[in-house]
Amino acid sequence: MSARFTVVGCGTVVPEAATGGSSYLLESGSVSALLDCGPGTVRTLAVLGIDWAGITDILLTHFHTDHVGGLPGLLFSLTHGLLPDRRTRPLTVWGPPGTRSMFRRLADALGPYMVDPGFPLEISEIKPGSSHTIRDDVLLTTTSTPHTEESQALRLEGEGVSVVYTGDSGPAVELGAFAAGCDLFVCECSLPDELVGANHLSPRTTAKFATEASAGLLLLTHVYPQFRAAADVVALVRAAGFGGRTELASEGWSHALPTGEAGAA
Ligand SMILES: [Zn+2]
Ligand SMILES: [Zn+2]
Repeated sequence: MSARFTVVGCGTVVPEAATGGSSYLLESGSVSALLDCGPGTVRTLAVLGIDWAGITDILLTHFHTDHVGGLPGLLFSLTHGLLPDRRTRPLTVWGPPGTRSMFRRLADALGPYMVDPGFPLEISEIKPGSSHTIRDDVLLTTTSTPHTEESQALRLEGEGVSVVYTGDSGPAVELGAFAAGCDLFVCECSLPDELVGANHLSPRTTAKFATEASAGLLLLTHVYPQFRAAADVVALVRAAGFGGRTELASEGWSHALPTGEAGAA
Protein backbone atom coordinates (compact mmCIF):
# COMPACT_ATOMS: atom_id res chain seq x y z
CA MET A 1 0.00 0.00 0.00
CA SER A 2 1.52 3.33 -0.97
CA ALA A 3 1.28 6.37 1.25
CA ARG A 4 2.26 9.97 0.74
CA PHE A 5 2.41 13.19 2.73
CA THR A 6 2.10 16.55 0.96
CA VAL A 7 2.33 20.12 2.21
CA VAL A 8 -0.61 22.02 0.77
CA GLY A 9 0.01 25.08 2.90
CA CYS A 10 2.56 25.81 5.63
CA GLY A 11 1.86 29.47 6.30
CA THR A 12 1.07 31.37 9.44
CA VAL A 13 -1.19 34.31 10.15
CA VAL A 14 1.16 36.43 8.01
CA PRO A 15 0.03 36.64 4.36
CA GLU A 16 2.74 35.57 1.96
CA ALA A 17 3.02 34.81 -1.75
CA ALA A 18 4.74 31.46 -1.32
CA THR A 19 2.03 29.63 0.61
CA GLY A 20 -1.45 29.74 2.09
CA GLY A 21 -2.43 28.83 5.63
CA SER A 22 -1.81 25.48 7.27
CA SER A 23 -2.98 22.45 5.32
CA TYR A 24 -1.40 19.04 4.70
CA LEU A 25 -2.56 15.95 2.84
CA LEU A 26 -2.03 12.38 4.02
CA GLU A 27 -2.88 9.71 1.47
CA SER A 28 -2.86 6.12 2.67
CA GLY A 29 -5.01 3.31 1.31
CA SER A 30 -8.62 4.44 1.23
CA VAL A 31 -7.81 7.57 3.25
CA SER A 32 -7.17 10.98 1.70
CA ALA A 33 -7.08 13.20 4.76
CA LEU A 34 -6.56 16.93 4.91
CA LEU A 35 -4.86 18.00 8.14
CA ASP A 36 -6.14 21.53 8.80
CA CYS A 37 -7.67 23.65 6.06
CA GLY A 38 -6.26 27.16 6.17
CA PRO A 39 -7.00 30.05 3.80
CA GLY A 40 -5.98 29.28 0.23
CA THR A 41 -6.35 25.51 0.57
CA VAL A 42 -8.89 24.93 -2.18
CA ARG A 43 -6.88 26.88 -4.76
CA THR A 44 -3.59 25.26 -3.80
CA LEU A 45 -5.14 21.79 -4.08
CA ALA A 46 -5.89 22.70 -7.72
CA VAL A 47 -2.43 24.23 -8.25
CA LEU A 48 -0.79 21.02 -7.00
CA GLY A 49 -3.07 18.82 -9.10
CA ILE A 50 -4.47 17.05 -6.06
CA ASP A 51 -7.78 15.18 -6.38
CA TRP A 52 -9.64 17.65 -4.15
CA ALA A 53 -12.97 15.94 -4.82
CA GLY A 54 -11.53 12.70 -3.47
CA ILE A 55 -10.79 13.97 0.03
CA THR A 56 -12.33 11.54 2.51
CA ASP A 57 -11.53 13.20 5.84
CA ILE A 58 -10.62 16.60 7.27
CA LEU A 59 -8.72 16.66 10.59
CA LEU A 60 -8.60 19.93 12.52
CA THR A 61 -6.05 20.82 15.20
CA HIS A 62 -7.68 24.04 16.46
CA PHE A 63 -9.97 26.87 15.45
CA HIS A 64 -7.54 29.65 14.52
CA THR A 65 -8.40 31.11 11.13
CA ASP A 66 -5.00 30.29 9.59
CA HIS A 67 -5.95 26.59 10.16
CA VAL A 68 -9.70 26.55 9.39
CA GLY A 69 -10.31 29.59 7.17
CA GLY A 70 -10.38 27.46 4.00
CA LEU A 71 -13.22 25.21 5.18
CA PRO A 72 -16.13 27.16 3.62
CA GLY A 73 -14.38 27.32 0.25
CA LEU A 74 -13.66 23.60 0.23
CA LEU A 75 -17.18 22.63 1.38
CA PHE A 76 -18.72 24.97 -1.23
CA SER A 77 -16.55 23.40 -3.97
CA LEU A 78 -17.44 19.88 -2.85
CA THR A 79 -21.14 20.87 -2.86
CA HIS A 80 -21.35 22.63 -6.24
CA GLY A 81 -18.02 22.17 -8.01
CA LEU A 82 -18.55 18.72 -9.46
CA LEU A 83 -21.35 19.64 -11.88
CA PRO A 84 -22.95 17.95 -13.72
CA ASP A 85 -22.24 15.27 -11.11
CA ARG A 86 -22.67 15.49 -7.38
CA ARG A 87 -20.54 14.01 -4.65
CA THR A 88 -22.08 10.98 -3.02
CA ARG A 89 -19.20 9.63 -0.97
CA PRO A 90 -19.21 10.59 2.70
CA LEU A 91 -16.87 13.13 4.28
CA THR A 92 -15.84 12.99 7.92
CA VAL A 93 -14.53 16.02 9.79
CA TRP A 94 -12.52 15.19 12.92
CA GLY A 95 -11.88 18.07 15.30
CA PRO A 96 -11.72 19.13 18.93
CA PRO A 97 -14.88 19.56 21.02
CA GLY A 98 -16.61 22.64 19.60
CA THR A 99 -16.17 21.60 15.95
CA ARG A 100 -19.87 20.83 15.50
CA SER A 101 -20.83 24.21 16.93
CA MET A 102 -18.36 25.97 14.62
CA PHE A 103 -19.88 24.28 11.55
CA ARG A 104 -23.42 25.14 12.72
CA ARG A 105 -22.46 28.78 13.18
CA LEU A 106 -20.77 28.87 9.77
CA ALA A 107 -23.96 27.40 8.30
CA ASP A 108 -25.99 30.18 9.98
CA ALA A 109 -23.72 32.78 8.38
CA LEU A 110 -22.97 31.26 4.98
CA GLY A 111 -25.64 28.69 4.16
CA PRO A 112 -26.79 25.18 4.98
CA TYR A 113 -24.11 23.57 2.78
CA MET A 114 -21.73 23.79 5.76
CA VAL A 115 -23.70 21.09 7.57
CA ASP A 116 -25.81 19.63 4.75
CA PRO A 117 -23.70 19.68 1.58
CA GLY A 118 -25.85 17.15 -0.31
CA PHE A 119 -23.65 14.19 0.59
CA PRO A 120 -23.15 12.50 3.97
CA LEU A 121 -21.12 14.83 6.25
CA GLU A 122 -20.18 13.47 9.64
CA ILE A 123 -18.57 15.71 12.24
CA SER A 124 -16.70 13.69 14.84
CA GLU A 125 -15.52 15.56 17.92
CA ILE A 126 -12.40 13.99 19.40
CA LYS A 127 -11.16 14.45 22.93
CA PRO A 128 -7.44 14.86 23.72
CA GLY A 129 -5.83 11.52 24.46
CA SER A 130 -8.38 9.57 22.48
CA SER A 131 -7.82 7.15 19.59
CA HIS A 132 -9.97 6.60 16.50
CA THR A 133 -9.73 4.47 13.39
CA ILE A 134 -10.15 6.31 10.10
CA ARG A 135 -11.73 4.10 7.39
CA ASP A 136 -10.05 0.97 8.83
CA ASP A 137 -6.70 2.18 7.43
CA VAL A 138 -5.26 4.85 9.73
CA LEU A 139 -5.21 5.08 13.53
CA LEU A 140 -5.61 8.65 14.81
CA THR A 141 -4.38 9.55 18.30
CA THR A 142 -4.48 13.04 19.78
CA THR A 143 -2.97 14.96 22.66
CA SER A 144 -3.75 18.39 24.04
CA THR A 145 -1.28 21.21 23.30
CA PRO A 146 -0.82 24.50 25.18
CA HIS A 147 -1.68 26.80 22.26
CA THR A 148 -5.40 27.34 22.69
CA GLU A 149 -7.97 25.76 24.96
CA GLU A 150 -8.97 23.26 22.26
CA SER A 151 -5.69 22.72 20.38
CA GLN A 152 -4.51 19.17 19.77
CA ALA A 153 -1.56 17.46 18.10
CA LEU A 154 -2.31 14.51 15.81
CA ARG A 155 -0.57 11.16 15.45
CA LEU A 156 -1.49 9.06 12.41
CA GLU A 157 -0.42 5.46 12.00
CA GLY A 158 -1.13 2.86 9.35
CA GLU A 159 0.67 0.59 6.95
CA GLY A 160 3.91 2.46 6.24
CA VAL A 161 2.51 5.57 7.94
CA SER A 162 3.82 7.04 11.19
CA VAL A 163 3.26 10.77 11.11
CA VAL A 164 2.91 13.29 13.92
CA TYR A 165 1.65 16.82 13.24
CA THR A 166 1.88 19.24 16.14
CA GLY A 167 -0.59 21.81 14.84
CA ASP A 168 0.23 24.92 16.86
CA SER A 169 1.67 24.16 20.27
CA GLY A 170 3.76 25.54 23.08
CA PRO A 171 6.64 24.14 25.08
CA ALA A 172 4.72 22.95 28.14
CA VAL A 173 3.69 19.55 26.80
CA GLU A 174 5.21 16.07 26.38
CA LEU A 175 5.33 16.16 22.58
CA GLY A 176 8.54 14.11 22.53
CA ALA A 177 6.79 11.15 24.13
CA PHE A 178 3.70 11.63 21.96
CA ALA A 179 5.85 11.59 18.81
CA ALA A 180 8.17 8.77 19.98
CA GLY A 181 9.58 6.74 17.11
CA CYS A 182 7.57 8.50 14.42
CA ASP A 183 8.86 8.42 10.85
CA LEU A 184 7.77 11.96 9.92
CA PHE A 185 7.50 14.68 12.58
CA VAL A 186 5.76 17.77 11.20
CA CYS A 187 6.55 20.30 13.89
CA GLU A 188 5.68 23.96 14.05
CA CYS A 189 8.73 26.17 14.61
CA SER A 190 7.09 29.56 14.52
CA LEU A 191 9.51 31.99 16.07
CA PRO A 192 13.08 32.45 17.33
CA ASP A 193 13.92 31.36 20.87
CA GLU A 194 14.18 34.95 22.07
CA LEU A 195 10.74 35.94 20.73
CA VAL A 196 8.61 32.85 21.27
CA GLY A 197 6.06 32.86 24.07
CA ALA A 198 4.19 30.07 25.81
CA ASN A 199 1.98 29.21 22.85
CA HIS A 200 4.39 28.45 20.02
CA LEU A 201 7.59 26.47 19.46
CA SER A 202 11.09 27.69 18.55
CA PRO A 203 14.29 25.93 17.39
CA ARG A 204 15.24 25.05 20.97
CA THR A 205 11.94 23.39 21.87
CA THR A 206 11.52 21.84 18.41
CA ALA A 207 14.99 20.26 18.67
CA LYS A 208 14.20 18.99 22.17
CA PHE A 209 10.97 17.28 21.08
CA ALA A 210 12.47 15.86 17.87
CA THR A 211 15.43 14.44 19.83
CA GLU A 212 13.19 12.89 22.49
CA ALA A 213 11.02 11.41 19.72
CA SER A 214 13.98 10.10 17.65
CA ALA A 215 12.02 11.34 14.65
CA GLY A 216 13.08 9.86 11.31
CA LEU A 217 12.54 13.10 9.42
CA LEU A 218 11.76 16.44 11.02
CA LEU A 219 9.74 18.80 8.83
CA LEU A 220 9.76 22.34 10.20
CA THR A 221 6.57 24.22 9.44
CA HIS A 222 4.47 27.26 10.38
CA VAL A 223 7.66 29.34 10.42
CA TYR A 224 6.91 33.05 10.44
CA PRO A 225 8.25 34.53 7.17
CA GLN A 226 10.11 37.28 9.04
CA PHE A 227 11.97 34.56 10.97
CA ARG A 228 12.63 32.51 7.82
CA ALA A 229 14.00 35.58 6.03
CA ALA A 230 16.33 36.48 8.87
CA ALA A 231 17.77 33.09 9.83
CA ASP A 232 18.62 29.59 8.64
CA VAL A 233 15.96 27.84 10.70
CA VAL A 234 17.19 24.31 9.90
CA ALA A 235 20.69 25.28 11.06
CA LEU A 236 19.28 26.73 14.28
CA VAL A 237 17.45 23.46 15.04
CA ARG A 238 20.66 21.51 14.38
CA ALA A 239 22.63 23.90 16.61
CA ALA A 240 19.99 23.38 19.31
CA GLY A 241 20.88 19.69 19.38
CA PHE A 242 18.77 17.71 16.89
CA GLY A 243 21.10 15.65 14.70
CA GLY A 244 18.53 13.87 12.52
CA ARG A 245 17.29 14.66 9.04
CA THR A 246 15.60 18.06 9.01
CA GLU A 247 13.85 19.92 6.22
CA LEU A 248 11.88 23.13 5.92
CA ALA A 249 8.29 22.79 4.70
CA SER A 250 7.24 24.54 1.53
CA GLU A 251 4.07 24.51 -0.54
CA GLY A 252 4.07 21.34 -2.64
CA TRP A 253 6.70 19.49 -0.55
CA SER A 254 5.71 15.88 -0.96
CA HIS A 255 7.25 12.63 0.22
CA ALA A 256 6.36 8.98 -0.06
CA LEU A 257 5.99 7.21 3.29
CA PRO A 258 7.87 5.82 5.05
CA THR A 259 10.38 8.60 4.43
CA GLY A 260 13.42 6.37 4.90
CA GLU A 261 12.72 4.19 1.87
CA ALA A 262 15.49 4.32 -0.72
CA GLY A 263 14.58 6.34 -3.76
CA ALA A 264 11.39 7.71 -2.22
CA ALA A 265 10.80 11.41 -2.64
ZN1 LIG B 1 -1.27 28.87 13.18
ZN1 LIG C 1 -2.97 28.83 16.14
